[in-house]
Amino acid sequence: MDKNKIKILPENIANKIAAGEVVQRPESVVKELLENSVDAGARNIDLIVKRAGKVFIQIVDDGEGMTEDDALLSLQRHATSKIFTYEDLEAISTYGFRGEALSSIAAVSQIEIKTHLPTEEVGTYLRTDDGINISKEKGAYPKGTSIIVKNLFFNTPARRNFMKSDATELKHIIETFKREALSQPSISFKLYNDDDLIFDLPAGSKEDRIKAVFAENMLDALVEVKELTDFINMTGYTAKPNFLKKNKGDQYLYVNNRYVISKQINHAVFNAYEHLLEKGDYPFFVLFLDLDPKRVDINVHPSKLEIKFEDERDVYNFVHAVIKKSISSHDLVPTMSFVDNKNENEKLAYNSFVKLNRNDFSDRPALDNKNISFRHTDYNKTSLSDNEIDALFGSLNMDNRKQVISSTDTPGLQEKEYKETEVDATDKTKNQQGMESSFIIQLHNKYILSQIRSGLMIIDQHVAHERILYEKALRAFDANMPFSQQLLFSQTIKVDAGEYAMLKELQPFLTKLGFEIRFFSKDTIVIDGVPQDVKLGTEEAILLDILEEYNKNQKERNQGDQDSLAASFACKAAIKAGDKLSDREMRLLVDQLFATSIPYTCPHGRPIVIKIPLDEFDKRFGRTS
Ligand code: ADP
Ligand code: MG
Repeated sequence: MDKNKIKILPENIANKIAAGEVVQRPESVVKELLENSVDAGARNIDLIVKRAGKVFIQIVDDGEGMTEDDALLSLQRHATSKIFTYEDLEAISTYGFRGEALSSIAAVSQIEIKTHLPTEEVGTYLRTDDGINISKEKGAYPKGTSIIVKNLFFNTPARRNFMKSDATELKHIIETFKREALSQPSISFKLYNDDDLIFDLPAGSKEDRIKAVFAENMLDALVEVKELTDFINMTGYTAKPNFLKKNKGDQYLYVNNRYVISKQINHAVFNAYEHLLEKGDYPFFVLFLDLDPKRVDINVHPSKLEIKFEDERDVYNFVHAVIKKSISSHDLVPTMSFVDNKNENEKLAYNSFVKLNRNDFSDRPALDNKNISFRHTDYNKTSLSDNEIDALFGSLNMDNRKQVISSTDTPGLQEKEYKETEVDATDKTKNQQGMESSFIIQLHNKYILSQIRSGLMIIDQHVAHERILYEKALRAFDANMPFSQQLLFSQTIKVDAGEYAMLKELQPFLTKLGFEIRFFSKDTIVIDGVPQDVKLGTEEAILLDILEEYNKNQKERNQGDQDSLAASFACKAAIKAGDKLSDREMRLLVDQLFATSIPYTCPHGRPIVIKIPLDEFDKRFGRTS
């Protein structure tokens, strides 16, 4: 009796098993076919699906095609034209390399391949129901390759039953189609579902493609990202903070032009938005990271959606810093118009699915909001260029420098850092703007009005100061150099058990902020010093307010302790609406505001600055020029 028990699996069974990893649903077939056509150098790719790909998926490309022998080989496992040695993998420029897509697909469907090399008289037609028994014909076919995948999972009932509704499967197909299309703007793509043309994307630039895939005015909602270094490049677009979208599906990340999913990179981007993001908000982005293929491992998973960076931490920091710079260097000051913004084209028609309205999408979870959600619908237009904004803030800074005088009467506005600029400040010729921007007034002790080149700028004094203090607090946490003003008379205050425990817990941070606290007994603490920004006489109230706000923040948002504390401190210590400010204080506030990293929105996402352009006044007054 044969005691051996191990047998090599028959090829068709091995292929079926491998298919389990590669082909999970119609969308996986679509992904593999699209990528093969791109790899084959196609300029035009048509994708045709029926019943969301469950019964029929066809790809038609005008790529390089296959000889008869190659076509036969393509159906075998581990048959690929894309790598020959393992080292090739380190410099891979094609999507494919595992040579197992077509064999896997063939194992679980009925597949037909028509392929015709541009240089040959006749082409090849292959057909197989199991990937093993192949029938063959010769004929004249269009140049390129056409592959039809019928009755997916017809021979694997478990998989077949696992497929979701047509709407769900189609949603996945569309998502994959968009991912591929976004990374290959120079290829024209079409997608038909049940004979409806649902996407028609002509070849063009990356920008053209973004518009065609999402919305004609999509770019208005985005900030360009572009950072080229020796080690890594990042290009693409990310959402302006005012156009954030509650939808996790809209992040497109490409590493060496391959769509990938990376929690770390997403996190790096989200983090760069700080508190511009409400809980549940995710910024839309289309980002392309390019780096030496040797520094990424793409062969972590058969679907190649996961990757591993060699220097995970560096990439994270790079992405974080670049996104932060991109969103903060951009003009995000909303323009106010007196005229009601009912005008349709002011709104961003987020039309990624408008072409699909004939289909049933009842079970799609994230697609029901056709419009990108605006946090501040009334202020969604921006119009100043970067240069203008530089000029504008430049002129303000000049003015401020002229005004620098030591001040202690409003502790909220510290001037120390600005003193060194005093010298050149007196030099009037430095004000190259040559414009009278010296006027600055306070409206109802609440808003600061100032002339800017393009018209009028209005700043909400409380949120402006909040932003300044918030960033200052974060810096204080980092710097570990507490700076506090000593109280002439230490203050003893009574706290309840909860407050006491919280103070104990937060003490290290509070100390860094400048609070000097002693724990006296179970319900008594003593304040010896407070941060410079705390108005004398309000120490106790502010400390307790901060605790309360911190508590609230912790519950409502999932901020880290430090961020939350910084935001609470900023909110409570900031000057309030109703506080009268002197001319000098207003200028300092403006100056400090524009020295922050994101002077446009407060830590809670409210706008800080709006501007009314001069033509808006002209329009109102019926002036033609
Ligand atoms: P891989 O893409 O990993 O090489 P596949 O199983 O997807 O493996 O494809 C096997 C081979 O078939 C490819 O290497 C390629 O040579 C050929 N091939 C597949 N699709 C096409 C196509 N649309 N045009 C030309 N050649 C193709
Ligand atoms: Mg492939």
